[in-house]
Amino acid sequence: MVIFKNINDIKKYISLKKDEERSIGFIPTMGALHAGHISLIQKAKEDNTLSVCSIFVNPTQFNDKKDLEKYPVSTEADIELLLNAGCDVLFLPSVNEIYPDGDSNFKTYDFGYLDTILEGAQRPGHFKGVGQVVGRLLEIVEPDNLYIGQKDYQQCMVLKKLAPMMGLNDLNVIICPTAREADGLAMSSRNRRLTEPQRVVAAVIYQCLVSIQSKKQTAQFDVVKKECEDLLAAKGFVTEYVALADARDLTLLSNYKKDTPMVALIAARIGDIRLIDNMLV
Ligand code: AMP
Repeated sequence: MVIFKNINDIKKYISLKKDEERSIGFIPTMGALHAGHISLIQKAKEDNTLSVCSIFVNPTQFNDKKDLEKYPVSTEADIELLLNAGCDVLFLPSVNEIYPDGDSNFKTYDFGYLDTILEGAQRPGHFKGVGQVVGRLLEIVEPDNLYIGQKDYQQCMVLKKLAPMMGLNDLNVIICPTAREADGLAMSSRNRRLTEPQRVVAAVIYQCLVSIQSKKQTAQFDVVKKECEDLLAAKGFVTEYVALADARDLTLLSNYKKDTPMVALIAARIGDIRLIDNMLV
């Protein structure tokens, strides 16, 4: 695996690989890698002749400074995991490399409605930061295929919009399934901050999603939603949202809708750790 810290160096390398007609699969991450990230690397390796992963904890997508400060960093272990996974290239830039003259010099994108609901409403400015950094990374790496996780459903919709906004009409955005722990908890870098008792109860989020999915023929969503909120509270979670939406455009739904692809989404906090998950319904 070749590791680059400078934009110019990675651009030169990628340009050489493009001359060799290699197809490039790109997996942007914030590090603290787990099996969910590695599943994206594996998919990129299957589909492409060059896999490029980036690790960059992007300050502009954190609306909460404390969340940024506490974001886990484990670069040595990450490199080991990427080596074992057979990743070809790692881009590991500093904040100064990505934002040399401050953040505002770099393009941001307007995601409209998607920025006003759920994660957009709970984390003002979050998707602006996501669009900014992924836009910047896409300009540097120029991949053929971008690999992202369904775990961040709303982010997937934002990034699907970003590609045409940037004029990258040939870029394929490939959404990979959520990797889960044995008890259903969605893998997340933030899970490693859970205490033992918090980790034991954390699968309740997954259980709520399963319950929302399994009751779609027999119950009203507001009743199931209330059950989920009560269950989350009983396990020590503070719920930010339990929502049902049209899976195609995230239009929020107040009840199950026949013949409509739906997605259930939950965000909840335990202590100072914020977890999100979703499931197609
Ligand atoms: P992050 O490092 O959290 O920014 O995530 C980097 C990429 O990995 C994003 O596209 C995430 O959606 C994806 N990802 C995170 N967790 C999982 C998971 N449990 N399963 C699949 N993909 C994931």
